[in-house]
Amino acid sequence: MNDRIFVEIENLSRMCKFTNCSHTKEPHCAVKNAISEGVLTYDEYNAFNRDKREEEHILKQKNKTKAVDYMKQRKLFREP
Ligand SMILES: [Zn+2]
Repeated sequence: MNDRIFVEIENLSRMCKFTNCSHTKEPHCAVKNAISEGVLTYDEYNAFNRDKREEEHILKQKNKTKAVDYMKQRKLFREP
C-alpha cells in the first residue's frame, strides 16, 4: 500500500481522543472522521489495518533485527 496513506493514518490516530483507539466504535475518532469526510477511503483504512497487524506480528518475533529492517523499509522506524 501507499506509504503516504500509512503515515497519514498514523498521524490521524494521534488526534483520536483515546490513545488506544481501535478506530471502530470509539467517539471522537480522527480516523473515522476522516473516512466520513471522504479524506480517507475504507479501502485505504483496511489496507492500513492489514499492514498494522503484519507489523505487530513482526515486532512480536524474537528476531528484532529483522523487525527493525522491516520498519526501516516501511519508513516507520525513527532513530531515538
Ligand atoms: Zn481512532
